[in-house]
Amino acid sequence: MTFSDLHLKPSLLKALEKKAYTDPTPIQIELIPAIFKGGDILAGAQTGTGKTAAFALPILQDLSGKHQEGQHYPKAIVLVPTRELAKQVHQSFVEYGAFLPLRSEVLYGGGNFKAQENRLKKGADIIVTTTGRLLEHIGKHHLDLSAVKFLVMDEADTILDMGFLKEVSQILQYLPEKRQNILISATLSTPLKNLSRQILHKPKRIEVDSMGTAASLVKQIVYPVETEKKAELLSYLIGSRNYTMVMVFVRKKAEADMVAEELKLSGLKTAVIHGDKSSGERSRALNDFKEGKIRVLVATDIAARGLDIPDMEVVFSYDIPHVTQDYIHRIGRTGRAGKSGLAITLISPGEMVALREVERMLGRPLPQEKLEGYTPKVMGIQKGARKSEKKKSIEGAFGNKKKKSTTFSKTKKRKTTKRDGFKVYDADKSGKDKKKGRK
Ligand code: AMP
Repeated sequence: MTFSDLHLKPSLLKALEKKAYTDPTPIQIELIPAIFKGGDILAGAQTGTGKTAAFALPILQDLSGKHQEGQHYPKAIVLVPTRELAKQVHQSFVEYGAFLPLRSEVLYGGGNFKAQENRLKKGADIIVTTTGRLLEHIGKHHLDLSAVKFLVMDEADTILDMGFLKEVSQILQYLPEKRQNILISATLSTPLKNLSRQILHKPKRIEVDSMGTAASLVKQIVYPVETEKKAELLSYLIGSRNYTMVMVFVRKKAEADMVAEELKLSGLKTAVIHGDKSSGERSRALNDFKEGKIRVLVATDIAARGLDIPDMEVVFSYDIPHVTQDYIHRIGRTGRAGKSGLAITLISPGEMVALREVERMLGRPLPQEKLEGYTPKVMGIQKGARKSEKKKSIEGAFGNKKKKSTTFSKTKKRKTTKRDGFKVYDADKSGKDKKKGRK
């Protein structure tokens, strides 16, 4: 299967050639024809699968076919959970559409509002945006969404996790009823199912076994270690194995800061991103990391969701994530787009139950390696803990029973609350002026 087999026009093929993409990925093979066909779509795919191109390419092709010179008004809205993802997805539209006469614009909280307004005045065909900031511009009459043909919700599970359901519902009121809705999510939780019922009409379901692919490319290892020795083991592994591009996931912001400090003290160039860091600090950390100026990027789960950082050598889970499915998001930072990767989890005795949940989601135990001097004396599940773990059949996110697990396994969330304070960042709430904003 090639991109031309997917009936993409020459100007898009030229852009893909420039990106050096040779073959379409599984999600692209499924999603591109489905979008061309029309109708609502519920797609299960995580970052790293090529999902952005899977929805961007057919949308660009469709819009360019009907485009009239000089007529730039919103025809596609792409909702994303974080500003970083907004910038990244917008950049993809710009690159894939480099030889088309379409304009993409990006909006996000924390960005200069006036500058965004001025750019919107020039007109845009595609708008990639966080929910709150879009509502703010609608409220100020900067946008008329009455001709929108495509609504994409990218990383819909994260949008809901971050508490933006209300904003999404408000945005829907400004969109025409007749439109194609494309909802993309790595996992399918109950709130997401409810949202898809609210938004999608008889959706085509596409589920790509991305975990199966990732699992074969990402080597996963668990190191048992006492909690107080984790930071030491982390810097030892990075240093002794000479890893040069490392991402470390930590559940809590304060702990992320502590881990980053420890690594710096060991002489490793390290930066940290989480919800308490300003937009500027986060962008700087990310750029420095991409440019190789720093060796280790410590991040909380939400801060790192959806970020496309190519060539990540190794991903560490300093602890087991808050939400079991986040393990998949974490290891998805490595082994991207067909490359191999390494995912290392540091596990303390108290985290054994949580590790079992991850293993159940994956459908197999993870290999453990023990390092002398770091292995805890007692390692095992405390008495009684196992009893609370209900034996569950593993299902695909969309309810299909599977022999083996996939990314979309139904695993009970241990806790689902707004994590990482990002609500504060993107909470540029402005749904107050509903409807009024319509031109
Ligand atoms: P995404 O899942 O959209 O975040 O994409 C993950 C990475 O895969 C990005 O760096 C893309 O540039 C890259 N990518 C997307 N499609 C392809 C493809 N067909 N071949 C190679 N790389 C790709």
